[in-house]
Amino acid sequence: ERTNAKEVVHQIVNNFRMIYPEFVFTLDDDLYSEKILKIYRNHFEQILIIVMDNAVKYSTDRKEVHISISTNLKELEIAIQDFGEGIPPEDVSRIFHRFYRVDKARARTKGGNGLGLSIASKLIDSYKGRIFAESSLGKGTIFRIFIPIQNTDEKE
Ligand code: ATP
Repeated sequence: ERTNAKEVVHQIVNNFRMIYPEFVFTLDDDLYSEKILKIYRNHFEQILIIVMDNAVKYSTDRKEVHISISTNLKELEIAIQDFGEGIPPEDVSRIFHRFYRVDKARARTKGGNGLGLSIASKLIDSYKGRIFAESSLGKGTIFRIFIPIQNTDEKE
């Protein structure tokens, strides 16, 4: 369960570039984001796919998604920003709940069951990480995912 976070983020972003050629995906990272996380690779991939998929799904005219990887002493942060419809402030805390969708009627046009983010947040919780959203209605949303970095001298 040792995963090269930067490599996985690059791989997922490249997959999205291939699947959604009409979108521009930018990816910012640095030397310091070369970190090994104590997380199953497929769990990390699933978390990224859920948030990236939402960024694409809830984008409107501006088909851009900005991804950045950064670190502090304790955590790796992956930020995923879109310029889509945004989330009303009163709903931001509920989007991580099972089956919660901001616009119930949108279920018909945009698919989905309201499960993605609840799965992502449960996975992140199980690694003692954090996820939250900053959103501005009509302007877009940034999801920030924090995963603890394993201390290099810590035993497996
Ligand atoms: P699925 O079960 O396919 O993931 P979903 O997208 O509805 O369906 P979640 O991923 O759990 O479910 O998201 C819950 C709700 O949060 C969405 O219905 C949507 O209203 C809102 N949401 C999530 N990501 C974004 C985003 N990037 N921009 C705007 N709204 C979002």
